Amino acid sequence: MSDDNEPQLLPDVDDPVAAPFWSAAREGRLVVQRCDGCGALRWPPLVGCPDCRSREATWIAAATTGVVWSYATYHRALHRAFAADVPYSIAVVDLDGGPRITARVADPDDRLRVGAPVVVSFERITDEITIPRWTLH
Ligand SMILES: [Zn+2]
Repeated sequence: MSDDNEPQLLPDVDDPVAAPFWSAAREGRLVVQRCDGCGALRWPPLVGCPDCRSREATWIAAATTGVVWSYATYHRALHRAFAADVPYSIAVVDLDGGPRITARVADPDDRLRVGAPVVVSFERITDEITIPRWTLH
């Protein structure tokens, strides 16, 4: 975590499109949108389906496990809000059953590689903001 004097880059949990995602995360649940038109799962939350253009979607529970599709480890902070956090790793994960979600890796170690199995965990940042993380397992 950054100290109190550093700026924080936090998600807008009141954004009407993404609010259900953040509300579920606060409860320790991972949810994604399933298009009512074509059934595609999507993340990040969007107003419309990029595949069929339907604007109707239903929030469903996503798998809590997946495998690393790609990752990067940051040794230099790209924003000063993250200066105290380096090095840290971000992984793009193919959830079992989809979709593909990007999040920080909690406590990365030498097991972090493409194809590594992960499980979602949740980091409570404030009373309102809880952010999904990947934990290697
Ligand atoms: Zn669709």
